[in-house]
Amino acid sequence: MSTTTPVPVPVGEATPPIAAVTVFTGSASGSHPQYTRAAVDVGEALAARGIHLVYGGGNVGLMGAVSTAARAAGGEVHGVMPEALVDKEMAHPNLTTFEIVADMHARKMRMAELGDAFVALPGGIGTLEEFFEVWTWLQLGIHRKPVVIYDVRGFWRPMLTMVDRMVEEGFVKDEFRDSLIVVSSPRGLLNALENWVPPAPKFSPQDAPRV
Ligand code: AMP
Repeated sequence: MSTTTPVPVPVGEATPPIAAVTVFTGSASGSHPQYTRAAVDVGEALAARGIHLVYGGGNVGLMGAVSTAARAAGGEVHGVMPEALVDKEMAHPNLTTFEIVADMHARKMRMAELGDAFVALPGGIGTLEEFFEVWTWLQLGIHRKPVVIYDVRGFWRPMLTMVDRMVEEGFVKDEFRDSLIVVSSPRGLLNALENWVPPAPKFSPQDAPRV
């Protein structure tokens, strides 16, 4: 494992074709084996397509599963971890590159810079927070990269119902809800990434807020 830092892709620029995908997912494995199966499927599918995996660098739960599977299938995996978690020895031992950052904010920024697309597999509140941040940044025009929900066992349905409610009640625009890609298979994921068309941002690019 090296600690080389790859050259970042600026947050505001999409780089088709997609060379790296940032995956957000649980530090737990969930209560059903189908969750781990899905994480393994995604890791393998990305590796098979030559797409690099960017993720939180952990060796626990679904995070560990997607990373281990991608590496086992010959893929490149870049982990980004805050110092505090490394000290707790939670880092994955078999990554292509491992980057230590100061804190959670720096980590999320790096994960946003390095991925050309974002995928949320099932997870807990950390996953939810990471997902909503990058989806919000798409709305604001801070990036123009695809944001994907990878559904397993209908896990994400209640969250999607909540978003639909926000649309019904006038808090989220219909077009923006439609920008969210929802898939439930590796093939669906790869097809969606290939066919991505960015929505018009809420602000014009020069007016987009800076982070
Ligand atoms: P959660 O969904 O609450 O389990 O949190 C998972 C998300 O938070 C991942 O996408 C990681 O970026 C981050 N995270 C939480 N726990 C860890 C951990 N032990 N090691 C690395 N990253 C973690």
